[in-house]
Amino acid sequence: MERSWAQLLTGLGVRFEMGWSAESFDMAGGRITGARVVDGAGNRARVDADWFIAAMPVERAVPLWSRAMLDAEPRLGLMRNLVTDWMVGIQYFLRRPVPIARGHVAYLGSPWALTSICQAQFWRGEFADRYGDGTVDDCLSVDISDWGTPGILYRRSAKECTPDEIAREVWVQIQACLNDTGEAVLRDDDLASWFLDPGVRWNAAAGRNTNDTPLFINTVGSWADRPDARTAIPNLFLAGDYVRTDIDLATMESANESARSAVAALLEAADSPAAPPARYRLHEPPELEPMRLIDAERHRAGLPHLLA
Ligand SMILES: Cc1cc2nc3c(=O)[nH]c(=O)nc-3n(C[C@H](O)[C@H](O)[C@H](O)COP(=O)(O)OP(=O)(O)OC[C@H]3O[C@@H](n4cnc5c(N)ncnc54)[C@H](O)[C@@H]3O)c2cc1C
Repeated sequence: MERSWAQLLTGLGVRFEMGWSAESFDMAGGRITGARVVDGAGNRARVDADWFIAAMPVERAVPLWSRAMLDAEPRLGLMRNLVTDWMVGIQYFLRRPVPIARGHVAYLGSPWALTSICQAQFWRGEFADRYGDGTVDDCLSVDISDWGTPGILYRRSAKECTPDEIAREVWVQIQACLNDTGEAVLRDDDLASWFLDPGVRWNAAAGRNTNDTPLFINTVGSWADRPDARTAIPNLFLAGDYVRTDIDLATMESANESARSAVAALLEAADSPAAPPARYRLHEPPELEPMRLIDAERHRAGLPHLLA
């Protein structure tokens, strides 16, 4: 029987407290003594513990660092230099399987820098039997990575489009790429419904969207500003895609790897006899090495990427 992560962890004694946000940490004697949390109704509480792992996105963690914490671990202050940007998902639920490719598709040249993946082909069982109301056969999952460039339908950036306009514009940009050889790979009547990440919210008064969940971006030189999972505060550890790991890109793998590093550091600091979690190195496909060398040469010579 399949069990969710939540069920597995609950079975191991983990207690989840949903709906609470960390607001600040208390420090005394060089250690964290408690975390202050608030729920959606404004109720406040203090969490006392021996060990703390801050596992929130970089832009949420930075405001939590107090003067005392920055004095004890100056590298936390460097996190202010780290950059986030908008990358947001929209899903299209389709009435027939549309296996555009067995993997990710990058729509090179699309104004909103779109990428997509058709999910049904990778998921176990019949999609229609397992998900939705039985009328949907595939999910075309799309990432929008450029929110500042005007589109082709409304001539506005994604930041300036309502959710309906975003859904229509992205659909049209993908069709322009896929249907350009005469064959209608993606048809309007394939579309049953769509779902935009609810972190993006339309502010009608401002004529713009806001985004609750931007993504950490590795900018040039950002390694120097990224912290390790172990901090100079002996009972505070960090996990998240911005934390230094061998998997040097904001992904689920890097977030996962940082959590493993945080747990390993915590077990060591606590003199625990428990075995540390396994840790992994980034696999660099050797067959891509010649292309990486060419790219490095071009970069040194000030030339653009071959695909740019
Ligand atoms: C559109 C999009 C597509 C992506 N596609 C892929 C992909 O295909 N493959 C891949 O590997 N990666 C992908 N990523 C990247 C990946 O999702 C992230 O890098 C990863 O989820 C980061 O994990 P994290 O644990 O650092 O942060 P999150 O997953 O953001 O988790 C942080 C948690 O902290 C909580 N939190 C925030 N503030 C507080 C607070 N004050 N107190 C308590 N809790 C708080 C949040 O609610 C959240 O649950 C994608 C990202 C985006 C935006």
